[in-house]
Amino acid sequence: MAWRIVIAGGGFGGLYAVRTLERILPAQSARITLVNDTNFMTYAPLLPGAGAGSLEPRHVVVPLRGELGHTDLRLGRVLRGSPDELCIHVRTLEGHQETLQYDHLLVALGSVSRTLPIPGLREHGIGFKTLAEAIGLRNHVIRTLEMAETLEDPARRAEYLSYVFVGGGYAGVEGLAELQDFAADAIERYPRCRTQGMRWILVEARDRIMGETPPDLSAFTQRELRGRGIDIRLNTTLDEVTASTVRLSDGDTIPTRTCCWTAGVKPHPVAAELGLPLDRGGRIQVDSYLQVDGHPHVWAIGDAAAVPDPAKDFKAPTPPTAQHAIRQGKLAAKNIAASISGGRRKPFRYKTKGVVVDLGRRKAVADTMGIKWSGTIAWLIARTYHLAMMPGGNGRRMRLLVDWNIELLFGRDFSELGQIGGRTSLSDELEEQSAGGTGDDGAPAQADRDGALH
Ligand SMILES: Cc1cc2nc3c(=O)[nH]c(=O)nc-3n(C[C@H](O)[C@H](O)[C@H](O)COP(=O)(O)OP(=O)(O)OC[C@H]3O[C@@H](n4cnc5c(N)ncnc54)[C@H](O)[C@@H]3O)c2cc1C
Repeated sequence: MAWRIVIAGGGFGGLYAVRTLERILPAQSARITLVNDTNFMTYAPLLPGAGAGSLEPRHVVVPLRGELGHTDLRLGRVLRGSPDELCIHVRTLEGHQETLQYDHLLVALGSVSRTLPIPGLREHGIGFKTLAEAIGLRNHVIRTLEMAETLEDPARRAEYLSYVFVGGGYAGVEGLAELQDFAADAIERYPRCRTQGMRWILVEARDRIMGETPPDLSAFTQRELRGRGIDIRLNTTLDEVTASTVRLSDGDTIPTRTCCWTAGVKPHPVAAELGLPLDRGGRIQVDSYLQVDGHPHVWAIGDAAAVPDPAKDFKAPTPPTAQHAIRQGKLAAKNIAASISGGRRKPFRYKTKGVVVDLGRRKAVADTMGIKWSGTIAWLIARTYHLAMMPGGNGRRMRLLVDWNIELLFGRDFSELGQIGGRTSLSDELEEQSAGGTGDDGAPAQADRDGALH
């Protein structure tokens, strides 16, 4: 009889778990099923590069089917679980519900943006967690430039040329730094905007940005960003967002059309629908072997799990990083195989080896096993690290290299391609033509269509 192993989530943790399982368990002894809501995994650390236009969107994702051997990939959305009956319920691509029985389940559903009940945030805040959001933000920045260029009133123009990022963790800092670099290049093509200039503001509740990194790296980053004219507001929080303003706790109200929310993540909400024990932060409670408390057939890893962190004497969960998710994925696979074959499981012992934060403009900061780097050398370390870590073999690495070199040699592309990708019917096209909007009539029409700049 083949063991039925179901992996829920094909991101960093899930993909590495599947690859390890395929390597250590013969196909005839285990039937592995991977359930994911897209047919690719997103290499999230490169989202800022995709958002800043230095990387093609398709090059920061890895098609799952190219990575799998004998695993069955089910495209669908995990809805809930019944651990006592050893099954999960999935909505398939076609829209019907399916029940998947398992002998072992590994939950690797990741996280979503953690929002707070701040007035206007849900309606007007922009996320930076998914590929769609990163590309949407890039398109939005170009549209703000196009819109500002058409406006006569400098005060109204200022609304479109002010960009507020809330949350100064490393993901927020990378997103802001790369996007500001991109906008600083783009603005050269917009004479009115260039004359007026832009405002970039980073709002952080704590007394320093990138609290996850050593203080000297955080201080270097702060100096570097301030040197570029970025206004960093420490010990400050967001009080309210409207369509055209952001109000901060320091009393300032900033006219802006862009409020990007990068203030942390929380476990995927489906984690709470699986019938498993959760910690106070909503993460699935597991032991050091990655096994869910009270459920010997269920395992959990990555951003969705509260894995006791050896670096913090097992008193707090591991941080939500790809580094941890990858190691947990590999270990969970080995422990599942050990449980099946009666072998010995091993506890999670990995401690963070370092961090790299790309700041655009050929600069970065890095901490590699306690050695700190900044500037161009750190930038080279960051790019080499991502090249080495990118799954998918040399083909995917070459795509990154080519994109990066094209950017270095020929600069970036500033077309706003927000309208592509959706499925439009011929009747939509005809309707648009009869309404006089051929799609060639400039940015305001595009903005109207997307409804993002009102
Ligand atoms: C902008 C940004 C930059 C980052 N930079 C770094 C970095 O430099 N270094 C680093 O170590 N970490 C970085 N991270 C964090 C890192 O990406 C995460 O910690 C990591 O992806 C967590 O892995 P995971 O397997 O838990 O979840 P994920 O990789 O998010 O995978 C979860 C998977 O589950 C799927 N899924 C979700 N819900 C469902 C459902 N209901 N049904 C089916 N499938 C579902 C998702 O599509 C996804 O494929 C960054 C994150 C962001 C957003």
